[in-house]
Amino acid sequence: MIGAIAGDVIGSSYEFHPIKSVEFTLFNRFSRFTDDTVCTIALADAILTGGDYTKILRSYCMEYPDAGYGGRFWQWLNSDAAAPYNSFGNGSAMRVSPVGFACTTETEVLEQARRSAVITHNHPEGVKGAQATALAIFLAARGADKQSIKTEIASRFNYDLDRKIEDIRPDYQFDETCQGSVAEAILAFLESNSYENCIRLAVSLGGDADTQACIAGGIAQAFYREVPSFIEQETLTRLTPHMRETISAFRNRYGW
Ligand SMILES: [Mg+2]
Repeated sequence: MIGAIAGDVIGSSYEFHPIKSVEFTLFNRFSRFTDDTVCTIALADAILTGGDYTKILRSYCMEYPDAGYGGRFWQWLNSDAAAPYNSFGNGSAMRVSPVGFACTTETEVLEQARRSAVITHNHPEGVKGAQATALAIFLAARGADKQSIKTEIASRFNYDLDRKIEDIRPDYQFDETCQGSVAEAILAFLESNSYENCIRLAVSLGGDADTQACIAGGIAQAFYREVPSFIEQETLTRLTPHMRETISAFRNRYGW
């Protein structure tokens, strides 16, 4: 799951300063982990411990209150009721990568992705975004080629994957909905020729850069089998000991 987290860290400095190019510095002094990383690691912990998604997500997020949460999510974190709020934001997709890496059957992936989403993102598009991302990771991790991943995700979730990044890029703007950002992140992966190139393509859309690079980065790690070590190191140094501990426990258990 380090592939998703590195995408978040690399994309973080471009979220509010969008760029429309693949030529940029991967890490700079503003690169940091954001909500995408916190929520991803929380889900990994929930999977590792068999714990409750809601409880663990809330506990991690409160540990890092300045990670840049959306307004509605922040209200959810701070309310005792913690009822889902019918969100179709891409928060369900950005945090789901551990599900794709840990589950052993397609049915399980879809069910766990749904369960991890509905605690907040119970709108059908919110659930779909999480399931599409997790299933793409699951298929890539099991050696599926890009054409089969594309066909499976496009047909099952009705995402338009017959587009090119260079055609989307000029008019693309910040869009934090699942329906306006998940397919584009998957396209960045499909067009890429390496992990790093995938992250560059995702950020180059000039949209919700950290989240789209996080979504694309999880799939790219699964497909290309590894994240370049300098990217992994630069990312890990920007995390906390508690985060690194959970990442390492997850890797020891699931190999990713
Ligand atoms: Mg973020």
